[in-house]
Amino acid sequence: MNKYETILNKKDLTRDDIITLLSPSTKDDHELLLEKAGAVRNETIGNNVYFRGLIEYSNICAKNCYYCGIRRGNDKQGRYTMTDQEVLACAKFAYDEGYGSIVIQAGEVSSVEFTDKIEYLLKEIKKLSDGKLGITLSLGEQTSDILERWFKAGGHRYLIRIETSNRDLYTKYHPADKMHSFDERVKALNLVKENGYQTGTGVMIGLPGQNIGHLADDLIFIKNFDVDMVGMGPYIESEDTPMYEDRDILIPKLDRFELSLRMVAILRLIMPDINIAATTAMQTLDPVGREKAIKAGANVIMPNLTPVKYRESYLLYEGKPCLDEEAEKCKGCIMARIKSTGAVVALNEWGDSKHFAKRIKG
Ligand code: SAM
Ligand code: SF4
Repeated sequence: MNKYETILNKKDLTRDDIITLLSPSTKDDHELLLEKAGAVRNETIGNNVYFRGLIEYSNICAKNCYYCGIRRGNDKQGRYTMTDQEVLACAKFAYDEGYGSIVIQAGEVSSVEFTDKIEYLLKEIKKLSDGKLGITLSLGEQTSDILERWFKAGGHRYLIRIETSNRDLYTKYHPADKMHSFDERVKALNLVKENGYQTGTGVMIGLPGQNIGHLADDLIFIKNFDVDMVGMGPYIESEDTPMYEDRDILIPKLDRFELSLRMVAILRLIMPDINIAATTAMQTLDPVGREKAIKAGANVIMPNLTPVKYRESYLLYEGKPCLDEEAEKCKGCIMARIKSTGAVVALNEWGDSKHFAKRIKG
């Protein structure tokens, strides 16, 4: 058994082990890691892949994260908010097609009108699906009162990516104010958990100045935070952002993709029973990136339900795929893609995190 195999057979991985697994290796060792992670998923939670129909509700954002294409300061970007009818039509489509769950994602807005609107939409979605459609929210940092209202209205999973667990890097990628503070981000994530949600986080991989040690620490942060679900993927540059200046110091896209794949696989090894998404950013850097992520242990996929007319306006980064593909076509394409990995599409199921069930029990 070589050093790599020995690490893969260990019960608990140390930070040094994680660094070894994240580092470039032989092709055989790389494959071994991905296969092992896929096998761990199958043994622990099975080979089902769950759908979360993605509704990109609005690109209006009060924040100015230096990496994001829909940041407030990007005045080239026209702004939109979907109408109630459009949101409900997407939710109905997801329900009728057996997607099981949806994700409502948007820029971060804190206003009475926005809070009321989301609460209203949650209740309407629950009504139209007879309470059967699961709902994940990804609406940024919110107060405990707002989180509680949305939970009562039907949201039961919430995703706030920590983006990077390294305070210095976080500070470097965000404006220096309270709205963009690392501590506030962690606090917001804690509030999500305290309010009873299945709690999700994630990081961007391949950020300028980020190294393998930082990524190992990200995985350890995620494990120590004891989250139920993770969505993470490569950082991809966007021309209309301040971080575009750093594009020449980024690691090549192929390496960023491989590193993201290793992150998914290692996360599956250290947190076998959580939900892990095969993210759109993975598909952006490799046309079969999501399939590769599923083979490496991911078990959630987010087909885009956003009406095509809005997709060009939710451009977080360059090269985002499926900008002109309506949801109807998306389903067939994704089903075939998942089947090609040997996994099974689980329709009409919430596909809740097994980790969450255990966490709340004891
Ligand atoms: N506004 C909410 C928030 O920030 O939590 C939710 C929407 S935000 C667009 C969702 C995620 O997009 C962020 O957490 C970030 O990780 C990701 N994102 C933004 N810009 C990106 C980029 N250039 N490359 C990769 N991911 C990016
Ligand atoms: Fe707004 Fe989220 Fe983009 Fe930051 S990452 S600018 S909060 S949409």
